[in-house]
Amino acid sequence: MSKSRNANLLAKKIRSQTLLTQSTASRLAKQLHTYTGSPIADAPDHKHRRLEAHAAHVLATAFQDRQLNGALLGVASARPDATHNLALRLEPEMADEVLHVLLPYFDEDYGGLRGLPGLRPLPAKRGIVLHDVSSSARMMVMREDGRPLSLPPARDGEIPQWSLSPHSATQDEQEEAEWWGRPNRRSADVPVRDLLFSRILRRPTLVNRAAAPHGLANCYTHHSGDLVIEWCCGDTVEAFCAALLAHDFIKNVPRHEACKLIPPHAARMGGYTVVLRRQPDCVLPYDLFGEREIAKRVHAGYTS
Ligand SMILES: [Zn+2]
Repeated sequence: MSKSRNANLLAKKIRSQTLLTQSTASRLAKQLHTYTGSPIADAPDHKHRRLEAHAAHVLATAFQDRQLNGALLGVASARPDATHNLALRLEPEMADEVLHVLLPYFDEDYGGLRGLPGLRPLPAKRGIVLHDVSSSARMMVMREDGRPLSLPPARDGEIPQWSLSPHSATQDEQEEAEWWGRPNRRSADVPVRDLLFSRILRRPTLVNRAAAPHGLANCYTHHSGDLVIEWCCGDTVEAFCAALLAHDFIKNVPRHEACKLIPPHAARMGGYTVVLRRQPDCVLPYDLFGEREIAKRVHAGYTS
């Protein structure tokens, strides 16, 4: 199919899913230079969406700008199995930290729960199955390089909730899960949030475009209902949006809140749920932040 026909089809799709004008939709569509294959399947049900969304949020909150090798949330690639359950291939140098961030610990120093409430690990042949103790939701994590992945030891002041209560959620976990399911007045409704965050976790190849030029980008959250991706070099916001829209990122999101461009360098999707921001200038000039220096800094952060 010709490039212009592809751009026309994408512009039409953008128009049908958003309130963007025809000229804006065409402009976005023309900026998509790389097409990376078919859209990945959505999570099989709302419980899986909830689990995956919470995982994306927890990872974004924890890593911020501390990634290695361009894996924004520590995920190198993702593949659903025949029943659409998610298998995440973790960036090898980040894999142990990803697992530590996802698993639920009561942290004495923090004075509360960290990680995904109710998540229980089950070692499997090629990785670890992480399942929700209160539902059928699960996902698989493994290292991208195929080497074994093992459960991280608890750090000082941490109480692993899966050891404390292997077959049911603890009181702290129940309260945390309730908080996560509660609507936030600053964001879109909970189902839209769960859908979009789950799609972020399922589209690492696209999301990692933000981290490609420097091997890292910035992601952060303000509350349970938003996730911000911020970068400097590489894609413009419009090109990044076009890539997400081409891969059904906002499919079935109400049109009026699906995608809004905020000139000159930002965009919002699902209301304020997913926010994209590109710095106008490079914030990591290579002469000050060489790749080796950045990796050293990030590694140090994981163990501190
Ligand atoms: Zn830059």
